[in-house]
Amino acid sequence: MLRFECECGNKTSFFATSDYDEHGREMLDIEDDDCVSYAFGEQSIMLKCKFCGHRYILPAYEEYK
Ligand SMILES: [Zn+2]
Repeated sequence: MLRFECECGNKTSFFATSDYDEHGREMLDIEDDDCVSYAFGEQSIMLKCKFCGHRYILPAYEEYK
């Protein structure tokens, strides 16, 4: 499980679905999509708090590509 907690106190989790992709990686699903939205860029994943609008970036690193 992956927890998201914004500085405004909004929090939600991504939970493991027991579904795996062809590389053996377990897929996550979001617990409550009214709390946070996310978008994929070429270099990052952006998470946006739906309560206060604060945005976060999870950057991509070369070694994981
Ligand atoms: Zn927030």
